[in-house]
Amino acid sequence: MSTPLKSPAVGAPTAARDDEVSAVVREVIEDVRAHGDEAVRRYSEKFDRWSPDSFRLGPEQIEELVASVPPEVVDDLRTVQANVRDFARRQRDTLQDLEVETQPGVFLGQKHLPIAAAGAYVPGGRYPLTASAHMTVVTAKVAGVERVTACTPPLRGRIPAATVAALHLAGADEILLLGGVQAVAAMAVGTGSIRRVDLIAGPGNAYVAEAKRQLFGEVGIDLFAGPTEILVVADDAADPFVVAVDLLSQAEHGPDSPAVLITTSAELARAVLAHVDELLPGMPTNDMAGPAWRDHGEVHVVEDLDAAYALADSYASEHVQILTRNPRQALDRMRHYGALFLGEGTCVSYGDKVIGTNHVLPTRGAARYTGGLWVGKYLRTVTYQEVTDPAASARLGELCGRAARVELFEGHARSGDVRAAKYGGAHLPW
Ligand code: NAD
Repeated sequence: MSTPLKSPAVGAPTAARDDEVSAVVREVIEDVRAHGDEAVRRYSEKFDRWSPDSFRLGPEQIEELVASVPPEVVDDLRTVQANVRDFARRQRDTLQDLEVETQPGVFLGQKHLPIAAAGAYVPGGRYPLTASAHMTVVTAKVAGVERVTACTPPLRGRIPAATVAALHLAGADEILLLGGVQAVAAMAVGTGSIRRVDLIAGPGNAYVAEAKRQLFGEVGIDLFAGPTEILVVADDAADPFVVAVDLLSQAEHGPDSPAVLITTSAELARAVLAHVDELLPGMPTNDMAGPAWRDHGEVHVVEDLDAAYALADSYASEHVQILTRNPRQALDRMRHYGALFLGEGTCVSYGDKVIGTNHVLPTRGAARYTGGLWVGKYLRTVTYQEVTDPAASARLGELCGRAARVELFEGHARSGDVRAAKYGGAHLPW
């Protein structure tokens, strides 16, 4: 049983807008498919009022932009990228190639091969999301992706120099100042001037996420990583001020970002609500966080932590922050989340910006079936096989003949038959 102290606004815009977003995205994709660069430019003008001579930055332009970023910012970019690279490399090391002899003379193996070309989408409609450059490009390069094309939109008509610097330092092979559906579609289907890629990774708003979803199949995608979500599980030991600050830290992403508190303490819940009310008006990003909290903020009081974990799991939220006496308990008790943040010493912002785990994470329940972006998403796990013992091939041939005929696959069966005959002396039954 849970008691909602604050529910989302009735008729909040997210769900209602789904159909409209989907229709706009479909139109843009089809137009880019049919008219290539001309359509890309048209939509960039329409949605971003952005139509430079070339969307692709040249080497000199990149050097100038990097030089325009304060050195201390560049130092921080390097530090964060080192953190992301380090963890991605350690994750890469967990993926072992494998070859086993499953029966005498029968060898089965697997290898992890990088995809050849990746598109990195780095959002920038509302904020220059510099950190998404680390998450997408650094990780792709650790995986061994040869060609990384990065797209990021202009920030209200201006070039986001720090994001360009981050993309360059991360090792992007080309950088395009292009955003939204037109960028995703161009990278997926290719245009006269933009080469298509094999997989598109990166977060984005509802339009970007929907574009990736619609193009999946034609191009690979990392996951459904749309508008950010936060869910906090707290007990009576949590500091209500910290809880309030952390809830708003994610609400500021955009007016469609849910922020949910589930707590065992009604007293804490009331204190958090009061702090949020105090904090919101003074927040410089109140224009985003305010509507997000009003329309998608939720506070639930539950009986105990069992109920809290169960309710939290039902959201399969992108970020789940555990502010309880024994935060590590959640590692065993929770199953559905994009990333867990254990205890007051860390927070979602660390994951978003600096600590080294990847911040491209599943939203809108996608955490039920996928984790976030990681080096493995840029790799294909492929298998191979070899049979070097003729007797083993003959035995498999007989088994294959029988198994395939159950399925009425005579052609498959015959491939087994010829080996059973050639290596085992069996008679061909046809
Ligand atoms: P964005 O780059 O995702 O989107 C900007 C683009 O949207 C623009 O270039 C424009 O072309 C397009 N656009 C805007 N309005 C449009 C319309 N009406 N029709 C068609 N296209 C339109 O940047 P953003 O808007 O700032 O959004 C970034 C998003 O990324 C936020 O929602 C944030 O929560 C999310 N995010 C998600 C994760 C994750 O891992 N899930 C991580 C970081 C950020």
